[in-house]
Amino acid sequence: MGVKEFIENAKSGSIDIVEHTHRVLDESKKLAKEYNYFNTVSEELALELANNIKKSIKSKDSRIKNKKLFGLPISIKDSICVKGVESTAGSRILKGYRPLFNATVVERAINEGAIIIGKTSQDEFGFGSFSVNIGLGFKTPKNPVDPERSCGGSSGGAAGLAKKASFPHIAIGESTGGSIAEPASFCDIFGLTPTYGRNSRYGNIDFGNSLDKLGTLGKTCYDVALLEEVIAGHDINDSTTINAPVDRYSDLNKKNAKKMRIAVIKESFTEGLGPAVEKKVWGGIKKLESEGIKYEEISLEMPIRYGLAAYYMIGTSEASTNLAKFCGMRYGNESELEGNFNQYFTKIRSSHFSEEAKRRIILGTFARMSGYRDAYYIKAMQIRALMTREYKKAFKKYDALVSPTVPILPPKFTEIAKLTPLQNYMMDVMLVGPNVCGLPHLNVPVGYEKALPVGMLLTGDHLQEKKLLELGNLFEVEDV
Ligand code: GLN
Repeated sequence: MGVKEFIENAKSGSIDIVEHTHRVLDESKKLAKEYNYFNTVSEELALELANNIKKSIKSKDSRIKNKKLFGLPISIKDSICVKGVESTAGSRILKGYRPLFNATVVERAINEGAIIIGKTSQDEFGFGSFSVNIGLGFKTPKNPVDPERSCGGSSGGAAGLAKKASFPHIAIGESTGGSIAEPASFCDIFGLTPTYGRNSRYGNIDFGNSLDKLGTLGKTCYDVALLEEVIAGHDINDSTTINAPVDRYSDLNKKNAKKMRIAVIKESFTEGLGPAVEKKVWGGIKKLESEGIKYEEISLEMPIRYGLAAYYMIGTSEASTNLAKFCGMRYGNESELEGNFNQYFTKIRSSHFSEEAKRRIILGTFARMSGYRDAYYIKAMQIRALMTREYKKAFKKYDALVSPTVPILPPKFTEIAKLTPLQNYMMDVMLVGPNVCGLPHLNVPVGYEKALPVGMLLTGDHLQEKKLLELGNLFEVEDV
């Protein structure tokens, strides 16, 4: 049963939410064991929320019937705080941390009747593209289509679960440089990263504050739209949220899509692109054409050529600042105080951060150092402005830009182990542009090649997520 049908049935009273939640939790625990999709299954909270809904139905509280997510299981990426539930961002340094508050997106989902089923696995603090850069004691999620391959990352657990779960479900993930669209592409689902500031970051364990965006992953375009509609909007707890009305994203109209104009980004079809991906993405473009949508090919040089360099400068600079607080005193796991403070902080940070976190702390600190700041950090910010200008020019003429989401098919873990850090970073070549410029983007599954899923990326102008959803809604996911 899909999300829409489930909510209708649940509202009509034909599903017992508590019984259903028990079944969902059983399957979730199984998936946690076999596929590593969860860092924590939040059994107690899920049952409490389900019982609350059951009670309001019994009390004939009429408001309950208007709840948009009535009894629907929702998972939360581990970097997003859920009150009373261990929230670690996949890092050993936060093991045992139970937030005293809900992130705004979690609070809003609960207020609309969501059942929070757990915290999904990810790369530590979001640092990665394959969910293999994990803290000590955490597990890597496996691709639902082929468990020897990666789910992508960093919202890997969210994407794997969204595809594999037999129960109706939508996931909340996070993207700094592609971490929603990339795993969505590897797992054959839709993944919406909205405009920077559309969704509150309050309660998100920061990676890069000028880049982080919370978003949604699900099996259909309607699913991601529905959850986005619930969580979006201004929040007094996050002054970077945009104070603009929230569109009715789930009200998707096929006729609107047919009037749109799109542009294919030429540079995204050049070297490094796997032939299987190229073929399927063109198939997606032709599908849009067959719906009456006109396309043109355009050149968008800055984002593809300089996007990665700018992203890794800005991202690591902000990450190194954010991680400075995790020193085993007030923030992060504490241990026996030995030696002087510097020795103590060094001991904690050395033993609690993974290799990748350390690499990013070193890179980011270097880029911000006096003498290098102008050459790296400031330069990256200038490139960001130029990239945004180029995108904005394109959006004067087109409703959406099209490219592949990821240049390759989901790789095997044995192949990932051979990649250098730079090759890892290259994975996001198509995704860093929209992320650095805060533009909404949507992964649309365009079918299978060699029995593996391929995704197509639609990028839109600021606050135009509705257009992307209406285009994406023309696609249905084929199950293989
Ligand atoms: N793969 C990118 C990185 O490693 C993006 C991560 C993210 O969006 N959280 O930085």
